[in-house]
Amino acid sequence: MKDTEYYDLLEVPASASAEDIKRAFRKQAMKYHPDRNPGDKEAEQRFKKINEAYEVLKDEQKRAAYDHYGKDGVSGNNPFGGGFDFGADLGGIFNDIFADFMGGGRAENGRRRNYRGTDLRYTLNITLEKAFSGSEEEITFPTMVECEHCHGFGTKDGKEPDICPMCKGQGKVRRQQGGFFVFETTCPQCGGSGHVVKEPCEECSGAGQKKINKTLKIKIKPGIDSNMRIRIAGEGTSGLFGAPSGDLYVDVIVEPHKLYERRDEDLYASIPISVSCAVLGGKIEIPGIDGKPVNIEIPAGTQNDAAIKIKGCGMPLYDTERRGDLYVIVKVMIPRKLTDKQKELMEAFRAEDPEDKCCEPEIKTFWDKVKDLFN
Ligand SMILES: [Zn+2]
Ligand SMILES: [Zn+2]
Repeated sequence: MKDTEYYDLLEVPASASAEDIKRAFRKQAMKYHPDRNPGDKEAEQRFKKINEAYEVLKDEQKRAAYDHYGKDGVSGNNPFGGGFDFGADLGGIFNDIFADFMGGGRAENGRRRNYRGTDLRYTLNITLEKAFSGSEEEITFPTMVECEHCHGFGTKDGKEPDICPMCKGQGKVRRQQGGFFVFETTCPQCGGSGHVVKEPCEECSGAGQKKINKTLKIKIKPGIDSNMRIRIAGEGTSGLFGAPSGDLYVDVIVEPHKLYERRDEDLYASIPISVSCAVLGGKIEIPGIDGKPVNIEIPAGTQNDAAIKIKGCGMPLYDTERRGDLYVIVKVMIPRKLTDKQKELMEAFRAEDPEDKCCEPEIKTFWDKVKDLFN
């Protein structure tokens, strides 16, 4: 008696075409998929059997062996195939299931081409002010999207294209040589896609995709820095045959600022002050990175290149409420153009302190060292 269990599982006659078998498999696999029947052991068993059946029937060679010898023909000790195990391996099954659920293509065992869309990269320049406050940026970039006319199938009628008759949808063909060696090569008829488009879609010439310029709004969180990358899932090019899209990666470059230099979460600003301000002390005000004025107290006797730390006036730590500090680097400016009166006052200033005692200890220390050298 002939074994027809695999056909019965898929509810197709033994004369069913490859396409009928594929369609029937999808229907049955959907029906008994564990996700749809949570906790149902019977459905799970059935699901496994359906996959086992399909694993054999979708393959021309295995199907022929099964028709001839029943299950023995496709198990490990089959009479032909020289010890090759044509039986279903679990990894293969599940890859194919996923491939079929996703409209074909994501199989990772090399049987089919990968239909996932490609990842895209975009370089986004933003100002330091925007890096401080966070922002929403609109970007426009060229990408490929599914052709809505053919739903990405590339066919004139918008339906799934025919299964390639040469490889039966496998994308690969097997060639047996010398009994023992089986070679797998990419199917020459379909180029590995497993499908053949007889009448291509007029809208996309059968590509299934169209090039467009896409505009997206990107959310930038406060504290973003150069060399940070934002991943926007699913915004790469569209996948083919319902496969997932690629991702979009936005590489951020924070532009240099006129006043502030950023070092991680801290900001540095060089501020020129007058000699009298440095000597007598004073107050200066600069615009903060947040737009609010920052008041800086210059203590009397501030030296050139002194750093004044202003806590909490730096950049935000990425994606937090905390802020770094602001360092004001004081640059004491020496007057170049003096009025007669100013000159007079400077002369009087010098006469008052001919040994520059007001600049101790630095000046004295230096001359003491010089003295030591010659003694
Ligand atoms: Zn199209
Ligand atoms: Zn083919």
